[in-house]
Amino acid sequence: MANLMPAVFVGHGNPMNALEHNRYTDAWSEFGASMPKPKAIVVISAHWYVNITAVTAMTMPRTIHDFYGFPQALFDVQYPAPGDPAIAERVVDVVQPTYMGLDEDSWGIDHGTWSVLVHMFPQADVPVLQVSINAELPFDYHFNLGAKLHALREEGVLIVASGNVVHNLRLIDWNSPGQGTDWAHRFDDDTRAIMTSDASQLGLVNDHADFRLAVPTPDHFLPLAYVAGLSAAANTPTRTVIDGYEMGSLSMTAYELPAA
Ligand code: ZN
Repeated sequence: MANLMPAVFVGHGNPMNALEHNRYTDAWSEFGASMPKPKAIVVISAHWYVNITAVTAMTMPRTIHDFYGFPQALFDVQYPAPGDPAIAERVVDVVQPTYMGLDEDSWGIDHGTWSVLVHMFPQADVPVLQVSINAELPFDYHFNLGAKLHALREEGVLIVASGNVVHNLRLIDWNSPGQGTDWAHRFDDDTRAIMTSDASQLGLVNDHADFRLAVPTPDHFLPLAYVAGLSAAANTPTRTVIDGYEMGSLSMTAYELPAA
């Protein structure tokens, strides 16, 4: 059997996690340290949510500070990992016949990616490529595209999906650190029951009674569809790396597909 790199879905939460050290960032650090150095990291980030399917293909992707209202220290963060245009072309190949464009000058490394990678791979010495989330297309498209990325795991590439299973910024309660509402718990628990048994069934949660509260917009949820697709392609359930809630309406659950 081929050696398979792990894959992971990370609940990235508040961008300030980039600067903090807490039990989530500790889990991300441990995950990064748990594997041989990847050939490249392909990241599906909630924050590159656009109307096209693309992969970054620049040699030196820029660090993007795609937020406002945060301390200067967060704007000062740089994640100077290189890109890898040859691996970008390989990503385009493995998803065929699905079309994926090569982005040579538009995007880079956004905070959904670097707020996690500064902990997972602090040396920034592994090439990073981002794959966009095509906002025009439904859940099944993203699940199937994720499954196609399986081939990359056999080639030494780590796949990271960065979002949040429960992500409702309108309902954030700043007075509830470490807490989740009842509906946040229900949705996160029911999602976990699927991800840790048969992730091919993840689409069922689109009909969950709490879906609209937990997933008011698809951007942070859809990265999980990629890891569910990878899980189905490997015929291996995911396992929970870390879990928890923040500010009532965010869940921080991370799921790993182990190396094999
Ligand atoms: Zn985010």
